[in-house]
Amino acid sequence: MGGASSILLKTVLTTLQKGFELGKFPDSFYKILSKPERVVAVSLPVRLSDGRIEVFEGFRVQHSSVLGPYKGGIRFHPEVTLEDDIALAMLMTLKNSLAGLPYGGGKGAVRVNPKALSKRELEELSRVYVRALYPVLGEQVDIPGPDVGTDPQVMAWMVDEYSRLRGFFCPAAFTAKPVELGGNPVREYATGFGCAVVTKVVAEELFGSSKGLTLSIQGFGNVGLWHAYWAWKMGFKVVALSDSKGTVYDPEGINVEKAIEVKKETGTVVEYPGKGQSRDVKETLYVEADIVAPDALENQLTAENAHLVKARIVVEGANGPTTPEAEQILAEKGVVVVPDMLANAGGVAASYFEWVQNIQRLSWSEEDTRAKLAELMETNFKRVLSQWRKLQPEHKRVTLRDAAVVTSLQRIYNAMISRGWL
Ligand code: GLU
Repeated sequence: MGGASSILLKTVLTTLQKGFELGKFPDSFYKILSKPERVVAVSLPVRLSDGRIEVFEGFRVQHSSVLGPYKGGIRFHPEVTLEDDIALAMLMTLKNSLAGLPYGGGKGAVRVNPKALSKRELEELSRVYVRALYPVLGEQVDIPGPDVGTDPQVMAWMVDEYSRLRGFFCPAAFTAKPVELGGNPVREYATGFGCAVVTKVVAEELFGSSKGLTLSIQGFGNVGLWHAYWAWKMGFKVVALSDSKGTVYDPEGINVEKAIEVKKETGTVVEYPGKGQSRDVKETLYVEADIVAPDALENQLTAENAHLVKARIVVEGANGPTTPEAEQILAEKGVVVVPDMLANAGGVAASYFEWVQNIQRLSWSEEDTRAKLAELMETNFKRVLSQWRKLQPEHKRVTLRDAAVVTSLQRIYNAMISRGWL
């Protein structure tokens, strides 16, 4: 994978390499972890509404199972590649290990624009994906959840298809399902909620308080929307928001509840009556704010634009939004980046809670689950922060990402040693 053409894969491999150097792990460990255990590529024929058959390309990457079954989302996106999927699966391994979950990492992808499909076509694609991958899925084998372009409805079709093939209802085989199929209401907003918890804790740790701090968020999908909502509820002043149509900003603060209504009514948050608008969706990353959060897609902060960031903290709600070159520029400017594997672990952590409830045929209340999630996010963050502070005297340039990856790798390494893999 040395000649990776995916920027995301290069980013993740660089992260991994830095972690290996810092933790002084043996080469054999790197050799195992820098490759996925299994990659399955599938062709997915779907009959479109006009009668034509379209064949979509799909993947499931099962990166590591040393800590437990593979776990990670399924992405529906027209530009996703196999290399991106491998990178995302590696990130899941790191994220799950860091959060202390009993999971390895995996990720699925289909090259499709889900917005261009009718509901029936989307259902068929979801079912065909499960039929194609059925032999390598299951509640003890590989447990998918949602990612960019998929949602609880897609999970519902998938769990139904899987259950039909097995012959009985298997709720624990997929997570982030609708509540009536064993989902927990927290899961819908869990990633954004977790980002908000981390935003608050990092602000308190680095600035002494989060009171009155300003926040700007790129992306108003499942992550960005709920990140904005919960951070606003926690007392942050949200000064800018964006979606694929552009950016809206208001230095006096945006009423996030109202922004959500505007998005529902008009299809875009840009219609919110703020003080200013811009067509540039990256504008959210450059506005005057204490904290900015790239919560949309990968490769948003690069060597070309990192110098434009005015914030003191970057919270990565998306996976892989900052390239290594950008991170170096930000570090030189004294900007602290809270890495994806730490900041956006709330989604998979809530998925874990859902899986546990499904296996036990129990259902916890929304409040209890949310409190557990907040605690997990806070503990996780503080563990990495203390590792970071421990590493600083010896490694001047060490980042929070380095500290996170070393912490995560240590757990994976110990498991490999115990299982006799190394
Ligand atoms: N897509 C989520 C992530 O990137 C995880 C999905 C899940 O398995 O719950 O962390």
